[in-house]
This record gives sequence, C-alpha cells and structure tokens, in this order.
Amino acid sequence: MVYGSKSAFAQVADLGFYENAVKSVIPGFRREFCPNLSSADRVICETVPIKVVRNWAFLASASEGGITISAGLGYIFDSLSWGYVLSGDGGNSNDCFYEYFTYYIGIISANTERARHNLPLMPAMSVANFPGQSPECRKNVHYNIALNDPYMREFQLKTVESSISFVLLHEIGHVVKRHVAFEKSSISLQRLREFEMEADVWAMQAASNSKYNISGSMAPFFIGSLQGGTMDWEKNSDHPLGIRRLANFYRMVLDDLIKNPVRRSQLGSHYQDVLDENRELKRRAENCLSVVQSGGDACPDE
Ligand SMILES: [Zn+2]
Repeated sequence: MVYGSKSAFAQVADLGFYENAVKSVIPGFRREFCPNLSSADRVICETVPIKVVRNWAFLASASEGGITISAGLGYIFDSLSWGYVLSGDGGNSNDCFYEYFTYYIGIISANTERARHNLPLMPAMSVANFPGQSPECRKNVHYNIALNDPYMREFQLKTVESSISFVLLHEIGHVVKRHVAFEKSSISLQRLREFEMEADVWAMQAASNSKYNISGSMAPFFIGSLQGGTMDWEKNSDHPLGIRRLANFYRMVLDDLIKNPVRRSQLGSHYQDVLDENRELKRRAENCLSVVQSGGDACPDE
C-alpha cells in the first residue's frame, strides 16, 4: 500500500495528480483494513463506494450512497507531511514544522472564508518554497535532500497514506454505525457530535485490528488545529472540538501501542521513542483541551 509513486510536489497545483494519488490508496486500504473486521462490517468496508471528487477543499463525508472524499485532501496532507518530515521532529513547537504548519493552516482558514464570499483563493506555498523565519526553515535545500533520500520519501508517503486511511476509516465508521441513516436535521447537535467521536473510535479499533500502524496519521492533528477553539464554538457545532478528538486519538494510539503486541515487534528499537513521543503529544492535547474547557481560548504555547 503506497501512496502515489513520485514526489507530489513535482506536480504542484495539479488537481488531477492528487485525484489519482488519493484513488491509488483505496485498493490497498481495503486489503489492509477490511479482512479483520466482523463479517457485517467487512462487507461494508469492502463494497462501500468511495468517490474521489476534483476539489481543492478538505472534504470527506458519508451518506447512504457511499463515501466522498476530495483530491484536495491528498494535497493538504502532502503539504503537511513534507513539513513534518523536514522538521525531523513533530513534537517541538518551535521547530520548522510548526512554522510551516501555522502558515499553512492560516491560508486554509483564510481561503475557507474567501470561498464563502466567492473571492479568489490565495495560493499556498509548498514546503519547497516556504522561506520561513528560523534558520533551519530557510534551508530549502533540505527539501531536495529529503526528496532524494529513499527513507525520507517513504516516510513522507506513509504519512500521507496513513492520513487518508484514517479519514476513510472514520467515514466507513459512520456507515457501519448507521449514522448515515439519520436525516441530519432530525437529530440534536450533541448527538451529531457523539457520532463523530463514535466514528473516530470505530476507526481506531479497525486500525488496531490490522497490522497497519496508523499512529502517524496527520488527520486528527489537522482537525485538532482547525476545528474550533472555544466551548461556545462546540456548543453550536455538529462537530466536537478538534482538540477533543485529537486528545482522544492519542489516548487510543497509546492504548494500541501498549496493548497490541504487533506494534512492539513492528517498531523494534524505535518502540520506546514512538511511545514517548505519543505520550508527550497526548499530554499536550489534553492540556490544551483542559485550558479550552476552563474558558481559555488558545492552546498554551509550549
Ligand atoms: Zn465524521
């Protein structure tokens, strides 16, 4: 199961490239995750139609007719994953990754607003041409080194692939849990928010039952940064706070790392590092969530 076959940034702004890249994940996704499910869930996982639409927006939804995801989802994860790989450290808030990430999330938020008012969208720089403020971010040469390093390339592709996989699992979760049978307007916002948490839990359980290590998925991280920052936002939304979902994701990842014997043997000598990093990420997400829950409106800068 390998996402795409060459560097996505060689194809900047080519929506067709990302459409094909996202489509290329689907057959391997079904082979990886469907066979270990209960028989009823397995049938759904193997046969639910998955449609990839030519749209730059981050879009993923489930209905009775199947699942729809956008090509833009591949583009967004591709950009973020390069930032992650080049930073060499996903856990340090002062590093290059966060600098790029903050810039990128800002563009996406602004463009969401602009699209609503029918204004032209602002282009986003890729990691390859992002100038950055700190010295390590100014070295675009890192990107070229990474591009030619088979290990880093593989890591980057896996990060994108696992991000798309988590989104697909989440949407299949809505189908198997029969959330799609309800008319959205007929249920309370609170119940709709519960649906999202249930779909996340189902997704993580499905991943735990497979050999695939989904802990590197950036989907919860992306959602955690984008969806809401106050209790008021959540009260009026059909989605939970992104940071609540992120904290829950890390809780489940840690559980899988500790209780699933496959992970220990898979990760070998990296096991302890991965465990420590996810513990730290969980601590930060929970810390941020508790700040928001007690009325704060921003995550503490650590
Ligand atoms: Zn959902």
